[in-house]
Amino acid sequence: MKRKLRMGMVGGGNDAFIGAVHRIAAFMDGKIELVCGAFSIDPQISKQSGEDLFVAPERVYLSYEEMIEKESLLPEGERMDFVTIVTPNFLHFAPAKLALEKGFDVVVEKPMTVSVEEAKELQETVERTGRTLCLTHTYSGYPMVKQAKAMVKEGHFGKIRKIVVEYPQGWLSRLTEREGNAGAAWRADPKRSGKSLVMGDIGTHAAHLAEYVSGLKIEELCADLTTFVEGRLLDDDGSVLLRFENGAKGVLMASQISAGEENAVRIRIYGEKGGLEWANEDPNNLIIKMLDQPRQLYRTGNAYGAPYTLSSFATHNTRVPAGHPEGLLESFANIYRNFAATVTAKREGKTPTPEQQDFPTVYDGVRGMAFIDTVVKNNEGTEKWTKFVL
Ligand code: NAD
Repeated sequence: MKRKLRMGMVGGGNDAFIGAVHRIAAFMDGKIELVCGAFSIDPQISKQSGEDLFVAPERVYLSYEEMIEKESLLPEGERMDFVTIVTPNFLHFAPAKLALEKGFDVVVEKPMTVSVEEAKELQETVERTGRTLCLTHTYSGYPMVKQAKAMVKEGHFGKIRKIVVEYPQGWLSRLTEREGNAGAAWRADPKRSGKSLVMGDIGTHAAHLAEYVSGLKIEELCADLTTFVEGRLLDDDGSVLLRFENGAKGVLMASQISAGEENAVRIRIYGEKGGLEWANEDPNNLIIKMLDQPRQLYRTGNAYGAPYTLSSFATHNTRVPAGHPEGLLESFANIYRNFAATVTAKREGKTPTPEQQDFPTVYDGVRGMAFIDTVVKNNEGTEKWTKFVL
């Protein structure tokens, strides 16, 4: 395919938070262009957003149904190739399903849906249609997260015993949803957010990061959810003990009332021989701690010689020379670039490389929804451990 992939958007208008980040990430490598959108629940805002983004007025639609239907009727050479869905959680499933059924690939925000049933239906739809679905678990796009995963996989730390993953934020320490914050309002509303606020909004990121870096699946868990802020309808803090498939044990903390915190995602993994530490607030560093050795600091973009050579997954996802900071936007762009390369390769009848296929998919989305369900079930019930059932 000697052209850019054509993107449509559902949500992400001038009234939205993460939509603009998606556009920066999608455009960073020059492989994707925006051709259409149903950018907002408010038609005026959608229209104005389309104008601001130089989208042809006839391709700014009043609803995602209209967009997907009308785009599917356009000639092959014009119609969008994929849809990015950046709406509140309850509005992920329907546009994703419709888009897949009409032959479009999909990029969708996490949590993928608001129930395991919906998530499984999307999985079935992806498998039946052969389309590609990418789920934007942002933190898995960083080069040093890829390096961490590669080192665990090659056995650098020996058998993994302990996984500690944290995602504290402080922005919901007050009743923000009643202070005119639209993003907080839908997140704290069970009808629009799902069964859990904290686990849907950030706990799934942490659970995905733990499974992604360790390469291990969560098998059972024991959870404690709390609503600290009076008047709030959903939980805003959670602590979860995890048991992984190889016998490793873990701790996951996700909290939105950790006053003063921003997006302090951090993961530590320990094996028989040593461990690693990576933190979102210092994303170009990977700290390696081996038994009886001084600490090592791996940094993005370095051409270290053996045995410190960075993995092909880390270098494939690095954009700037060592010493120049990379961050969230590049990590997000890595997810888009790998998705775009996979979609293009599939359309050309080629097999994408393992590095190109390295982005979260519908299967991660199903696990994310099962994680939320299992946490809520365990928190509400009396059993000590609840099996992670898909
Ligand atoms: P937001 O409230 O800021 O924006 C939501 C957008 O969706 C708005 O433009 C709104 O008008 C639009 N919308 C609502 N209903 C619509 C409809 N029927 N048709 C078209 N547009 C519609 O929300 P946000 O903070 O941008 O979050 C959106 C999604 O992204 C959520 O699922 C959230 O969990 C996820 N998110 C992910 C990350 C990440 O790190 N990956 C970060 C922030 C948000």
